[in-house]
Amino acid sequence: MKPMKCPHCGGTYIERHEDFRFDDHVCGTLVLPKAAFDKCDSCGDVLLHPGTGDRMSALIEKTIHHRLGRLPVGDFIMAKQAATLLDISVQAFNKHRRIQRGFIHQVELDGHKCYHRGSVLRFKKTSDGRFPLASATQGKSAHTRTVSWGRGQAGNSPRRAPPVHLSV
Ligand SMILES: [Zn+2]
Repeated sequence: MKPMKCPHCGGTYIERHEDFRFDDHVCGTLVLPKAAFDKCDSCGDVLLHPGTGDRMSALIEKTIHHRLGRLPVGDFIMAKQAATLLDISVQAFNKHRRIQRGFIHQVELDGHKCYHRGSVLRFKKTSDGRFPLASATQGKSAHTRTVSWGRGQAGNSPRRAPPVHLSV
C-alpha cells in the first residue's frame, strides 16, 4: 500500500495505535487510550481514524459529567429558574438548540435536568456557558495538541477527512 504524503511537509503518515493526548477547551488535557490515528513522521500532523473522533467526544462528555458531579449540588438550578435568569420562557429554554447541545453545563439530579447557575449566567453574556473544568492536578503540557472541535460544536466529525488506507 502506498503511504500517504503529508500535505504540510511532504513527510509520510505512519499508522499508530497508542494513547493520544489532546487539549479540550473545557476539560484541559485528556488522554484517549489506544487511539487509532495516522501521524506524520516528520511534522507530527495527526489524522484521526473514523471512530477516534467519536471516542474523543465520548471521553470529553464523560469527563465533563464526572467533574460537574464534584461541584456542589447547590450550584445547580432547575430549568424554570435558569429560564428566568435568561428572561425566556421554560419552553424556549427547553427547545433552545445551543442549550440542548451542552453550551450550558448540565447534570441530571433525581431524574431532572439541572443547570449550573454560573454557567447559565455566562451563557447569557456570551452564548457559551461552558467554563473550564480542569482536574485538580492538571498541568499544561507542551506535548499536547489542541483539538478545537468539542462537545457542542458542529458535529462530531474528525477534524479532517479520514485517511484512505484504513485497516479494518
Ligand atoms: Zn508532515
